[in-house]
Amino acid sequence: MQGAGKEGCRKGKVYIVGAGPGDPELLTLKAVRIIRSADVIVYDRLAPTDFIKREAKSDAELIYAGKAPGRHAMSQDEINKLLEEKACEGKLVARIHGGDPFLFGRGEEECIYLASRGISCEVVPGITSAIAGPELACIPPTSRLVASSVAIVPGREAAERKERRVYYGRIAKTVDTMIVLMGVGRLSEIVNELLEEGLDPSTPVAIVENASLPNQRVVVGRLANIVSKAREANVKPPAVIIVGKVVWLRDKICPETSR
Ligand code: SAH
Repeated sequence: MQGAGKEGCRKGKVYIVGAGPGDPELLTLKAVRIIRSADVIVYDRLAPTDFIKREAKSDAELIYAGKAPGRHAMSQDEINKLLEEKACEGKLVARIHGGDPFLFGRGEEECIYLASRGISCEVVPGITSAIAGPELACIPPTSRLVASSVAIVPGREAAERKERRVYYGRIAKTVDTMIVLMGVGRLSEIVNELLEEGLDPSTPVAIVENASLPNQRVVVGRLANIVSKAREANVKPPAVIIVGKVVWLRDKICPETSR
């Protein structure tokens, strides 16, 4: 690997690209242009892999940086160093994230790391699953008479963080719509906390699994029964959880969806 400041490092460039929730039609034109022109593509588990493989230059180097069964994911440190190494070879590097790269994506950490080494880094925003997930299930995050505010929160916090930052009860009481990413594994804890904090058990909840993909599924319930409904349906990640009255608009927006 070459050190920062070398000629190659100045010539190379890293795009931190959001690829949307999975359906390639939800990629931006800019994301597609960069995928087609990149020398190196480093992609995540939730990126549209088939599209990337089909559209990349024939001599592009494709590197998978996500988790695979029986194999460890690359650590963030390893990814940062890989991006640095490839940029310093003078390459055009596309680092592809699912959804938006700066929303629970750690793309900002990659940019900070690269920028601190003098490597050019540019973000390409993507359609986040936090918004596309609800919308593709006919649930608007806001609606004029029903919900004026939205909070997007993680279902779990970074392991290295000591103090707690996300108090679901407080958030759900002050914000009309709460959207939870990475929350499937902790659904019952989150729901219990909301009920203990005094939220109405009849508060509507929806879970959108594999949003935008052919196997998208939606489970709708209330705080009182969503845990058992999710268990019955065997909901698995990736999924977005939506808590709030906007969930009821689903039937009005898409009357053909039967619950
Ligand atoms: N940066 C991403 C989020 C990364 S965190 C974005 O903006 O979308 C990973 C979480 O995103 C998953 O646990 C899940 O909650 C959500 N997610 C990503 N893709 C999804 C999809 N197609 N359907 C439902 N949820 C998805």
